[in-house]
Amino acid sequence: MTAQTEIARIAGAVPDPELRVVTIGELGIVRGAELADGRVTVTITPTYSGCPAMDAIRDDIRAALAGAGFADVEVKTVLSPAWSTDMITESGWAALERTGIAAPGASGTPACPRCAHAHGGQPTPVLQISRYASTPCQSLWSCRSCLEPFNAIKKL
Ligand SMILES: [Zn+2]
Repeated sequence: MTAQTEIARIAGAVPDPELRVVTIGELGIVRGAELADGRVTVTITPTYSGCPAMDAIRDDIRAALAGAGFADVEVKTVLSPAWSTDMITESGWAALERTGIAAPGASGTPACPRCAHAHGGQPTPVLQISRYASTPCQSLWSCRSCLEPFNAIKKL
């Protein structure tokens, strides 16, 4: 494994500070990792503009790389191309769904994570309760079948 691959792996394995079940690699936040003249540069893209977790993500990347012996680390933020929910990997969505956080769905309407597979794949009707949930990147929904509230990642 080259040092650059190793750096990308370590940075990508950092858990998201808000959605701890997924890594920032699975969320598609890490855009690149470079090693030049002993200096590491990791490039990240914020998920939602003004995401309060970005400072924590920067610190966590530096800490993870310092633990692996990379002391000189710069974390750069790039805004273009903009992040979108399409950049979340399959394993990322699977991890989110396991904790009851739904994907936004192609139309922007999520399927209830409890009932998503219970009706032959047919989504049950859902109702949006709030545009904001425990984090700004999630919205709060209620399932009209099982009546349970659930969070969904907002489509971007
Ligand atoms: Zn349900």
